[in-house]
Amino acid sequence: MSNNLTDRIKSCDYCQLSGGRPVPGEGNPHADIMFIGEAPGKQEELAGRPFVGAAGKLLNRLLEGIGLKRDDVYITNIIKCRPPQNRDPLPEEIKACREWLDEQIKSIKPKLIVLLGRHALNRFLPELKISKVHGQLLREEVADLGTFVFFPIYHPAAALYNPKMREPMEEDFKKILNLLQSIEEGNLFDNLNRCL
Ligand code: URA
Repeated sequence: MSNNLTDRIKSCDYCQLSGGRPVPGEGNPHADIMFIGEAPGKQEELAGRPFVGAAGKLLNRLLEGIGLKRDDVYITNIIKCRPPQNRDPLPEEIKACREWLDEQIKSIKPKLIVLLGRHALNRFLPELKISKVHGQLLREEVADLGTFVFFPIYHPAAALYNPKMREPMEEDFKKILNLLQSIEEGNLFDNLNRCL
């Protein structure tokens, strides 16, 4: 990822959320795996880094659990600025931020995109429900981006507040490295599901 892209994100004024401290994302600019969450919260805005609060600590533990460090992957969000009171991102905010995430994906060219929660899922696949498709590998053509492989899982913050989601999220997370290996070996279709 070029510094130029990061700088452009930091000086973005495309929507009403501009004026705070944007959180572009961080990690390996050539990562095979990209994690996409919803939006920075207060801790993230203060630090200028994604997933550093409670949900981030859980994400760190999950990564460590499968032998990965944050630096091995790339971590970002569908919108780069914190919505007031951490409310859900509005459709116009997601649209305004679209170009940044698209550019990040084009630059990193991840083999696998892990979508954390419903907002990230619906940014790419608006008709799908996270409760139905979490833990399934989805290969999709995305307008202006090309074909990518997505793996939706429950958002770590949702799993923190709803214990029922915790186990499925952890089980889905454990599949990530095997899925990446299947993709690299070209066995993608053995694992591929498209559930509407
Ligand atoms: N939740 C998110 O979706 N993103 C962050 O960066 C932090 C919490």
